[in-house]
Amino acid sequence: MKSVAIIGAGITGLTAAFYLKRKGVPVTVYEAGGRVGGVIQSIRKDGYLAEFGPNTILETSPKIAQLVRDAGLESRKLATDPKAEARYVVRYGRPIEMPGSVPGFFTTKLFTAKAKLAVLREPFIKPRRDGVEESIAQFVVRRFNQEFLDHAIDALVAGIYAGDPHKLSLPHAFPKLKALEDNYGSMIKGQLFGARARKKSGEVAKDRAPKFSFDEGLQVLPDTLATQLGDSLKLNIFVTKLTQTPNGWMLTVRENGREPQGNIEHRTSNIEHPSFQIEHSAVIYCGTAHRLAELEIELGAPSTASVRTADNFEPRRCSAFQQFSEINYPPVASVVLGFRREDVTHSCSGFGMLIPKIEGFKILGTIFSSALFPNRAPAGHIAMTSYIGGARYPELASLPPEKLVELTLADLRVLLGVRGKPKFVHTAFWPKAIPQYNVGYGKYRELLSDIESKAPNLFFAGHYRDGVSLGDSIVSGVNIAERVAVTLQQP
Ligand SMILES: Cc1cc2nc3c(=O)[nH]c(=O)nc-3n(C[C@H](O)[C@H](O)[C@H](O)COP(=O)(O)OP(=O)(O)OC[C@H]3O[C@@H](n4cnc5c(N)ncnc54)[C@H](O)[C@@H]3O)c2cc1C
Repeated sequence: MKSVAIIGAGITGLTAAFYLKRKGVPVTVYEAGGRVGGVIQSIRKDGYLAEFGPNTILETSPKIAQLVRDAGLESRKLATDPKAEARYVVRYGRPIEMPGSVPGFFTTKLFTAKAKLAVLREPFIKPRRDGVEESIAQFVVRRFNQEFLDHAIDALVAGIYAGDPHKLSLPHAFPKLKALEDNYGSMIKGQLFGARARKKSGEVAKDRAPKFSFDEGLQVLPDTLATQLGDSLKLNIFVTKLTQTPNGWMLTVRENGREPQGNIEHRTSNIEHPSFQIEHSAVIYCGTAHRLAELEIELGAPSTASVRTADNFEPRRCSAFQQFSEINYPPVASVVLGFRREDVTHSCSGFGMLIPKIEGFKILGTIFSSALFPNRAPAGHIAMTSYIGGARYPELASLPPEKLVELTLADLRVLLGVRGKPKFVHTAFWPKAIPQYNVGYGKYRELLSDIESKAPNLFFAGHYRDGVSLGDSIVSGVNIAERVAVTLQQP
């Protein structure tokens, strides 16, 4: 019976394993850390629920809701409060609500008359068709203007990628925006006329997609998938080497592997842990790009013999993987703070606020966690999650927790009218948070496809390939399970 090894028990690996197992394919998930979920981690403490990493899932594809149903989690799913739709962007040193309608856009104080005129002009700007790969900043300035970049897109990019708009690639980081220009000649026209195509595909635009979590936070999803995997999940197993064999792949694994993420648990001891080998018919790599670069890979050399046997099959070391270490994952810290309701002047009734660099604050943005979901803070209190670092200020993310709280409080005092000391504090540090799909990222995606075509039954899925959001990772896991199941059926 053909078996599949999945490397990494983040949401991509767990989703892929869950669906392969349902299809009757024997699967084993190897996870370096002592827990499942990867960057997803929720804790409940002192009546608060804090998320270390992601806060919500955007339901951009029907496959996401299907996973929740298949996992039996429908009753634990929590949609964001419909009253919490307001998003704020900071300008003139204060949060201003983003307009949600056309009349609202023309009356908002968020943009000057010049920027509003730039939007009216956009449908008449010729699309660029010379094939040159632009950054999102170049695209926005070309189709709108500098003000739009500095006061809107810069903040949005910090919210999604914790990234730099001058470096992020339009086709790789924002493929849907590129498609609007390619297909409709304009963003505005694409928004107006693209609705029918989106409806047909079942895909929902990110700005309109429903958002959700679970009663006890996002961790509920990986925990549930892990429970259903049972013994097929192996924690504290670090995969160090893959060797192609005539029958598939030999994994060299080390027990009690390093925990590669966050401040959750760093096992840096130099004690040599035992290594052992185990063979599977296929491997799906669902880890991170930087760990992929460290993985030792031996590909079978092409053999002239018609039947590949252990005697004529000579694995050779492949150095191409080292290139993945070039992919930048800037560090990010998350700071969850709880306050008594009366100690915060701002209503905080909305999704949260985004902060452009030009405004000079240290935090990248804040999510109004307790406005989104009912049980995130005790009665009479509110919880908010702010992010620090990213490509904008990487050096700030690694500051000690008390310094992170101090910086966050300084900004929140000005922006939200926060008074006194927080009643709840939780910080998390991600030394390598989100991969930056910068200009030139296509090289890495092509390399992955190239390796897949040359190394049968080795597959790649996850946030470093198929999009950085949780929803993208779920869809990536669903799709790779489908692909692998079909491949394994072939003789
Ligand atoms: C701070 C932060 C906030 C975010 N906020 C949001 C949000 O609100 N909404 C949203 O949609 N997205 C958000 N994201 C992005 C989203 O959470 C991730 O893109 C997604 O969870 C990635 O899942 P994954 O399974 O692909 O990778 P990961 O979660 O990184 O999991 C990879 C796993 O592979 C394991 N691994 C790696 N190498 C090996 C090896 N050699 N052997 C064994 N195991 C290995 C790792 O230990 C890890 O557990 C956020 C990300 C961060 C960091």
